[in-house]
Amino acid sequence: MTVNIVKTQQTDNLIYLDYPATTPCDSRVFEKMAPYFCNLFGNPHSNNHALGWAAHDAVEAAYAQIAGFLRVAPKEIIFTSGASEANLIALRGVMTKLPRTDKNHLITTETEHKSILTCCKQLESEGFQVTYLPVDEHGLIDVAALASAITERTLLVSIGTVNNETGVIQPMEQIGRLCHERGVTFHTDATQAAGKMQIDLAKWNVALASFSAHKIYGPKGIGALYLRSAPATKLRPVQVGGGQQRGIRGGTIPVPLCVGFAEACRILQDDFASELVRIAELSARLFDGLCKSDPLVKMNGAPHSKVPHIVNVGFPFVEGESIAMGLGNLCVSTGSACSSDQLESSHVLRAMHVDDYYVQSSIRFGLGRFTTKEDVDYTIAKTSEVVARLREMSPLWEMHQSGVDLGRVQWK
Ligand code: PMP
Repeated sequence: MTVNIVKTQQTDNLIYLDYPATTPCDSRVFEKMAPYFCNLFGNPHSNNHALGWAAHDAVEAAYAQIAGFLRVAPKEIIFTSGASEANLIALRGVMTKLPRTDKNHLITTETEHKSILTCCKQLESEGFQVTYLPVDEHGLIDVAALASAITERTLLVSIGTVNNETGVIQPMEQIGRLCHERGVTFHTDATQAAGKMQIDLAKWNVALASFSAHKIYGPKGIGALYLRSAPATKLRPVQVGGGQQRGIRGGTIPVPLCVGFAEACRILQDDFASELVRIAELSARLFDGLCKSDPLVKMNGAPHSKVPHIVNVGFPFVEGESIAMGLGNLCVSTGSACSSDQLESSHVLRAMHVDDYYVQSSIRFGLGRFTTKEDVDYTIAKTSEVVARLREMSPLWEMHQSGVDLGRVQWK
């Protein structure tokens, strides 16, 4: 790898392990985007002059590159502002499509990203029915439970491919097969899957899928909705604007962001196999190292069905927030970045029935393109030291040592 995180005085001694929250824009991506800000600044919808044509060509090339990465047709890609918007268009667009029928039921899971869950709550307040499927202790749904939840009123199933807190991969092929058999549209939020595992939208029978560029070393502010063309996926546009993108998502297409998103996909594609092996090794090294220095640590999420990029670990008897503070120059997260400012415990871990004292003590380590072996070794040493220090001061640890079964304690 020839590129690196661009360090500044502010970031010099930081070790970034929060890749699921966002990734740095790869310098190669940034370079590709640069000419489209001040030089080739045309509106891709201006079809009377050379600057418009250049912008148009760049956008078309971006559609083609991203479609190639996903092995779909360019016309099946709709640019959005990010995955949150793609999720919104998918859920709201399909559920409110015209002509209305008596199908008003949507099935999702308890562990989805907040952008799905808040949209579901909004739809419920408008009279739609939503089923939130539970998950098991590994974070996986039960496909048989999904089968029983589908009724003749079910229009849409929305299940994320990879969970952003635990990295757990849902059984996509089985879910897709079931949706196909029962004639239900299947949407997946694949934001955390891109570049981390093989994505096969055709095999999974996915009709709609959401993506975000800033999770794959592209710029913030752009994402994509995959919209299957055959059989056609019908939806009602959420933002009509000036009718751009075939009326599905209006608004001037942000050319530099499209160019950056496409370049990010190109790099992912080129490095995919070797990068996956490298991250898997680092991930195993990290977890093994943490376990060796602290036998009480526990991995949250199915080890047999997860991407290696996310290592979510509970360090019982110490508060996750205190660990994160103590880690100082290590950038980690105690929950998903999008909701961790709300200081509520993780809805994902709670849905997995992880014991309260593990939920509160969990840290998400996110590995990515610029993580090195040295970073991992430093992380193991520093985390072990911080956890040991905090545990010595922990009243929970004292209770545990004096024989209290904390699993039975009802926390308020
Ligand atoms: N879905 C998942 C699974 C995510 O991890 C995120 C980002 N945290 C989003 C959706 C939202 O993506 P964006 O920031 O592009 O709106």
